[in-house]
Amino acid sequence: MFSFQTGPKQYVITALFSTTAVRILRFGESDDFELRLSSVVRLNPVNKLSRSTQRLLKVSMSDSQLSVVICQAQGRHPVRRALEHEITEVLINESNVHVTMVPHLYDMAQNHSGLEFMRSVPGTLIVFGWLYERATRWTLDRAGIRGIVGETLLKADEEDEEDESTESPEFNGIGSVDVPDRQLFCIDLRASEDSQDFVQEIRRIKSEIDPQPFDLMQWIEGAPRADQLQRYLQPNEMLAAVQAQDAGDTSVNRDLLPEDTRRRWYPVIDYSRCTNCMECIDFCLFGVYGIDALDRILVEEQDNCKKGCPACSRVCPEHAIVFPQHKTPAIAGADGDVAGVKIDLSKLFGGETGLSAVDQAVQERDAELILDGRQAVGKSVGLKNREHDEFDDLMNEFDALEF
Ligand code: SF4
Ligand code: SF4
Repeated sequence: MFSFQTGPKQYVITALFSTTAVRILRFGESDDFELRLSSVVRLNPVNKLSRSTQRLLKVSMSDSQLSVVICQAQGRHPVRRALEHEITEVLINESNVHVTMVPHLYDMAQNHSGLEFMRSVPGTLIVFGWLYERATRWTLDRAGIRGIVGETLLKADEEDEEDESTESPEFNGIGSVDVPDRQLFCIDLRASEDSQDFVQEIRRIKSEIDPQPFDLMQWIEGAPRADQLQRYLQPNEMLAAVQAQDAGDTSVNRDLLPEDTRRRWYPVIDYSRCTNCMECIDFCLFGVYGIDALDRILVEEQDNCKKGCPACSRVCPEHAIVFPQHKTPAIAGADGDVAGVKIDLSKLFGGETGLSAVDQAVQERDAELILDGRQAVGKSVGLKNREHDEFDDLMNEFDALEF
């Protein structure tokens, strides 16, 4: 740490990075003061700073107009890893862009440092993931990472699109809350095998957004410890560490890698479709759902959900429940308009089993109850309106078909 005086103001500088430190540190009351560290600087670890110093501290990514977060694939799939690394390598050197990697979005616990980092980003945020855009968006929303959803032009083919109609269905969901005035873009990494396609999309977005730079380090004043998040601010070091680890190097400094996760399975609610009807909370007998302070449905105990079972997504009348890792695109969040005017017979009949969606859901729920040592309940619990709705839906869909 060192200090110096310029004019009437005194600046106290504490650099954060013990290796490559090409960061801008800005202290004191001056908004126009910037010091670019162009050489390696030995610094005090952030976690040793006093809270008052942390509050004083602001590290400005002065050139950054947008932040790109690449959510890694599960496992170490070599092709997927290679694509992630190619995109990261290019974006590290891209002007006005800050890029970092976090683990698979769906697998991060709510207090994971990767989510904490994304919560802290105040400006335009672009999130890449190996999920359907809709699944990414609502998984982020669940974590409190929100924004005005920007349109991405790079899209994955959606396997269940059987209808060529370009008409968009209308949804009457209760929507998200506390959406900040910034843009959020979600991009499916399955949209292309060519990293250049993703880089071009970033450049297109960058050219269209408000060029106001932002301070990336608001988190310094937040709940997470600065040292927990530091790794996400060193993309060069992180990339090198991830590549070394993938190559089998067991001596990699884990502080440079994205923090570990484990595989998870839980429902994600799409509030653009959810009407707060509460059918899911009645149907689920495992205590997954709850109600928040605004009397809105929420996934309260996500780890109570039964791995591999998507039962409640089949009974939600709005098809608002997404299981991002399910093999059926409609359940995994494909925007195939399964709840809209387009027909999705596989969804309507509950998939390849030939059962109705409700019957399949009941079967799945009973199987989980029995595995838990409980009694099967069949259709006797939590389905008060579903038989009628299913029949009505079926008739409406057939009415709409043109043979
Ligand atoms: S059943 Fe679907 S629409 Fe109803 S509250 Fe649950 S998620 Fe929302
Ligand atoms: S899949 Fe089953 S256990 Fe999980 S939330 Fe839905 S009904 Fe509950």
